[in-house]
Amino acid sequence: MAVKRLIYYPEDEAQLRKISRPVANLKNKNLKRLIQDLKDTLESQPGAAIAAPQIGALKRVVVVKFGQNDEAEEEPMLTLINPEIIEAGAPETGFDGCLSIPDIYTWDTPRPRWIRFRAIAEDGVEIVRRVEDMDARVIHHEIDHLDGVLFLDRLRDPDELYTPIPGENGKTKMVRLIDLPGLG
Ligand SMILES: [Zn+2]
Repeated sequence: MAVKRLIYYPEDEAQLRKISRPVANLKNKNLKRLIQDLKDTLESQPGAAIAAPQIGALKRVVVVKFGQNDEAEEEPMLTLINPEIIEAGAPETGFDGCLSIPDIYTWDTPRPRWIRFRAIAEDGVEIVRRVEDMDARVIHHEIDHLDGVLFLDRLRDPDELYTPIPGENGKTKMVRLIDLPGLG
């Protein structure tokens, strides 16, 4: 049980591109350890969710904190084993960020406005749930990780990437990567 080193883009891109395998045995000791490692690692990070391949385990397991929508209260961590999208609404362009791609954000990735998904909980019980807006974006982003897909792949405009830089009055402001001096 430990905080694991995250797998980062672009240095470890090859690992992030692999397809994760479904969990076959829910009683496996390694699965228990993996879930605890995912929770410990997410706890140590600012993100809303984490997928097993982000700590180097090619298993279809994600840990998510739903309740990311405006006015919602963040929920406790929920483990989703072998999550699958059953039904999804029309795509809407919105925010994305990734623990494996630090300090880079976008408002330009289309993802379904709502999603109905199925997964197995830690206790083996099937979960079927409908989530919307940011929560739908989060679960869609995490299932993408299980298939080796990164948010960068979904950008409508590849220039729509932002990074925070120090602004006025000690605040940070977001600037496009291509507008940074010395780059682009
Ligand atoms: Zn991510």
